[in-house]
Order: sequence, then C-alpha cells, then structure tokens
Amino acid sequence: MKEPETEPTACEDFQQRLTVLTQSGEGLYRDSHLRICQGCSALVVDLEMISESARNVFGSTE
Ligand SMILES: [Zn+2]
Repeated sequence: MKEPETEPTACEDFQQRLTVLTQSGEGLYRDSHLRICQGCSALVVDLEMISESARNVFGSTE
C-alpha cells in the first residue's frame, strides 16, 4: 500500500480493457490509467513492440 494512486483493481480493470482496446485498434495511450500507472504504461509499450515486430516479420518474409 505504498502507492495509493494505483489500486490493483484499477490495473486489473485496465488490463481487461486493454485486450478489447488492442483488438479494436483504439488509442491506448489516451487511457487515463496510463497517466497514473507506470506498470501498465510499460505493458502497453511492450504490446506495441510485440505487434510491430510481428508486422515486421510478416512484412519482411521473402
Ligand atoms: Zn495499472
């Protein structure tokens, strides 16, 4: 309970939305939870990198 601004439930809630947001392609970075939670911000960055490298793999196959 060192970080009262980031409640575990808020993270769980965000991560559930994240699945829907990534699939729908909506602006993840606009989510207000990312402004208060570095952990989830890092998670989004990871997801972006994964989806981008996946795109690169498909794009560069000859
Ligand atoms: Zn979070």
